[in-house]
Amino acid sequence: MADCIFCKIVQKQIPTEFLYEDDNLVAFRDINPQAPVHFLIVPKKHIANLLELKGEDFPFLSGVLKAIGELTHKLGIHEAGFRVVVNTGDNGGQTVPHLHFHVLGGRFMGWPPG
Ligand code: AMP
Repeated sequence: MADCIFCKIVQKQIPTEFLYEDDNLVAFRDINPQAPVHFLIVPKKHIANLLELKGEDFPFLSGVLKAIGELTHKLGIHEAGFRVVVNTGDNGGQTVPHLHFHVLGGRFMGWPPG
């Protein structure tokens, strides 16, 4: 989608190092990390948010789980723990209208979130 920053990253119009990639998604470090480890998992297809996911996106969702497993091990946060966040809509704090899974780790995180 034109003017979508994550579509531009997926299409390599904005140079970004991918930590992980498969047919349906890419993962890259958040530009403004909120924890020592903070990366995003983003569908290659433009999907605005969690509620826009369709049945046909199931391979993407299973890929998200695989990417989380592989990257948390690779980046060394699997044992101490981590948090997966999908901010959705205004109250959820979503600022980029292209679905993304935040994965944060490397420090203790309080609850409830702010
Ligand atoms: P959210 O507020 O949940 O929509 O998250 C959007 C995230 O995208 C924020 O954590 C931003 O720091 C991150 N972000 C925005 N632009 C970039 C970029 N060019 N590369 C990596 N992360 C980005």
